[in-house]
Amino acid sequence: MKKIRYTKNRATRAYCTAFLSAILLAGFSSPAPQLGAGVASASAREAAQLIMVGGSQFYITIGPGDLSVSRSDLANYAKEAARAVIAYYGNFPVKRIMINFVPTDDDCIGYGSSTYNDDQQTGIVTVEVGKGTTRRNLRSSWTLTHELMHLAFPVVSHHERWLAEGIATYIEPIGRMRIGNLSREEVWGDLLNNLPKGLPRRGERGLHFSRNFDRVYWGGALYCLLADVEIRRRTNNRLGLEDALRSIAKQGGTAASDWEAQDAVKAGDKGIGLDVLTNLYAKMGDQPVYVDVPSYLRRLGVVKSGTGIRFDDKAPLAAIRRAIDGIEEI
Ligand SMILES: [Zn+2]
Repeated sequence: MKKIRYTKNRATRAYCTAFLSAILLAGFSSPAPQLGAGVASASAREAAQLIMVGGSQFYITIGPGDLSVSRSDLANYAKEAARAVIAYYGNFPVKRIMINFVPTDDDCIGYGSSTYNDDQQTGIVTVEVGKGTTRRNLRSSWTLTHELMHLAFPVVSHHERWLAEGIATYIEPIGRMRIGNLSREEVWGDLLNNLPKGLPRRGERGLHFSRNFDRVYWGGALYCLLADVEIRRRTNNRLGLEDALRSIAKQGGTAASDWEAQDAVKAGDKGIGLDVLTNLYAKMGDQPVYVDVPSYLRRLGVVKSGTGIRFDDKAPLAAIRRAIDGIEEI
C-alpha cells in the first residue's frame, strides 16, 4: 500500500463552514482521520457497484450511515469526475479504481484521499459525504475529480508533494470546464483569486521547504500555469502541460509508481522534447519565485471586472489561454 494523500477542502466553491472549522482545527501537518482507504479485496469489489467509464472499471462502495443523495447520484458524481479526468488526459490512466464514499454527519463533501493498492492493482479513492449533501453539492464538488486526477501521477515523497498537489489543483477545474461543469469565468476567476496564496511571503524559501497548506497547493498550481504557458509559447501553442502529463502517465508514471518528482518532470520533458518542467521545478522548489499574478493573467487576457472577470481576446497571450481552455469557441 502506498502513502495516502489527503486532500482538504481548499476551494472557495461549495465548502461548508463546519468543514472549514475542521480544517483550521486539524492544521496542515496533523494526521488526518483514517478513512478506511485500504480496502480493495475481491470480496469488497463483489459488494461494490461497478461502472465503466472510458474503458476503466470503477467500483463504488457506500459505507454505513444516512445520506440525502441516492446511490445513483453518487454513481453520477463518480462518472462526471472520471469524465473530467478523461477530458484532460485523453483516457483514464488507471484501469481499476475503487471509490469509497463514507457517510458523515456534516452538510457537505468532506475529506478526500487517494492511494494505490499494488497487490490488487487498484487505485483507491475515499471521499467523505455529509448526510446533508445535496445533488447540487455533488455537481459543484471538486473533491472526487481532484483525487482521481492524483491517480494519473506518481506518488512522490512528502517534501515534493507540492508538485502532485499543484497538478491536481490546476488541472481539476480545467477537466471539469471541458465537460461543461464549470465556466471559463469560474476557472480563471478562481486562478486570479487563489494563485497569490501560493506566493512566498517575506523570508520564505522555495516550495520544497513549505508546509503551509495554501502555499503548497496554490504554489504548485502556479508552477503548472507557468509551465503550461511556457510550453505553449515555445511550441507555438502546439503542445501544452497536458501533453507532458499524458506522456508521464504513458511512461508508467501513475499512482501505481513511486517516483522521485524529479524523474517525473524529466519524463514529462522527454515526452515533449523540452526542458521547461525540469528547470522550473528546480527553480520554484529551491528558491522563492515571485510573480505578479494579476499582470501575468492580464497578458493571457484575464481581466478583473467588478467582482468577477472578463476576457480580453486582444491580449498578447489570449490564444494560449483559449488553448488551455481546450473547448470550442461558440
Ligand atoms: Zn490532493
